[in-house]
Amino acid sequence: MNELLRKPATEQAKALKNKEISAVELTQAALNRIKEIDEKLGAFNSLTEETALETAKKVDEKIARGEELPLLAGIPLALKDNMNLVGSKTTASSKILENFVSPFNATISQKLLDNLVPILGKANLDEFAMGSSNENSAFKKVHNPWDLNKVPGGSSGGSAASVASCEVTLSLGSDTGGSIRLPASFCGIVGMKPTYGRVSRYGLIAFASSLDQIGPFARTVEDAANLLEVISGHDPKDSTSLNLPVEHYAANLNNDIKGLRVGVIKELMSEGLSEDVQKAVENAIECYKKLGAEIVEISLPNLKHSIGIYYILATAECSSNLARFDGVRYGYRTPDAKNLLEMYTKTRAEGFGPEVKRRIMLGTYALSSGYYDAYYKKAQQMRALVTQDFVEAFKKADVLISPTCPNTAFELGAKSNDPLAMYLTDIATISANLAGIPGLSVPAGFDRDGMPIGLQILAPQLQEAKLFNAAHKFERANDYYTKLANI
Ligand code: GLN
Repeated sequence: MNELLRKPATEQAKALKNKEISAVELTQAALNRIKEIDEKLGAFNSLTEETALETAKKVDEKIARGEELPLLAGIPLALKDNMNLVGSKTTASSKILENFVSPFNATISQKLLDNLVPILGKANLDEFAMGSSNENSAFKKVHNPWDLNKVPGGSSGGSAASVASCEVTLSLGSDTGGSIRLPASFCGIVGMKPTYGRVSRYGLIAFASSLDQIGPFARTVEDAANLLEVISGHDPKDSTSLNLPVEHYAANLNNDIKGLRVGVIKELMSEGLSEDVQKAVENAIECYKKLGAEIVEISLPNLKHSIGIYYILATAECSSNLARFDGVRYGYRTPDAKNLLEMYTKTRAEGFGPEVKRRIMLGTYALSSGYYDAYYKKAQQMRALVTQDFVEAFKKADVLISPTCPNTAFELGAKSNDPLAMYLTDIATISANLAGIPGLSVPAGFDRDGMPIGLQILAPQLQEAKLFNAAHKFERANDYYTKLANI
């Protein structure tokens, strides 16, 4: 493999600028790497080779003309396969969309193309982003690059594994309840969920619209900050996108964090935490002390309800969002229906996988007349309490820290027959989606089996710059980010 593939985007960009390598060569090297190892990893559903090489060529032409390059031009990137890119298959890892070809670009895809970022392919995920292990893909499982017998985390498992294994340098995922932060933590890289509304959701296949947010994966905080800058901004096509200027997030990475109040979330430091993860977070606390931060203990009393709230709201929203997959307009249609009703029911019965069906049924139940007040309405009220917990917490702390997950990556199959155990994996991540606040996972060490551990950092809404600053200082005070999976 070309050694440059192991380097962060910042260094690849320098090599391009200094003409040590051309953008076409770099893209080709990444495509070769994918072809070499992806059979073992399963990170990609499809490749978009032509689009990638075309974009790379444009970068080389710009370099030849001596023109300034846009941020991240020429850096190999993967899209989660629930994001539309013209002419590519966008499957959401579901049989029901197996042959669906995007007729339009998601706003994030258009922004990447405008910035001349080569998009190399569509990364595997849990079907419709529902899952925590990437075992719910209708096509194939993704393997963790640190140990191929273990899960990469989900639902953006392909996006995380492809960056961790240096197939690509950057990728995008979507995070509804932790789907960026969890796989980032399991794969030993940086994964970031922005403030709700910071990035346009136009062209992202909706799972739970009030929670979904697109965000970056990278091997360094600086790369993630730059990628967020490229994809952020107001979009009239997404009514929930915020009409606020985009910051140059990387500008403040090296700010001194002396006096920064770092809150440790009490509820996430006790029960169910693996010993190694606990130790890693305690080390992180020590590290922040050395950097001059002030450590405060924070309690989020309603955090314990977050999984229950999420599995009512997310399923309710998905039961509505997935109603459009009925065999009429999109994707798969059953070949042998006798009438219209049978066409709908058979198409959906044959097209959706078991987890997706479970969620649609749960959500339909929670929204049904007679149960709406008891479940959906109550969950909305509880969501407000979780949000209020954060408002209180951020009066006492500037950022909050916790493990991203109470445990490290588990064996493939270990939880696939126990949905409740799987749902519990997201205890640390879900509340940030309920409150709409930004959060990220940054590498924080390894467990006794050499599997990566992630530290989660949360900040108040729209405080992405502060979040990246706190994460970057921690990253550079340690060397975890320099360690790469040996695949
Ligand atoms: N694991 C959670 C779920 O299964 C979160 C998924 C996500 O963030 N897309 O719903």
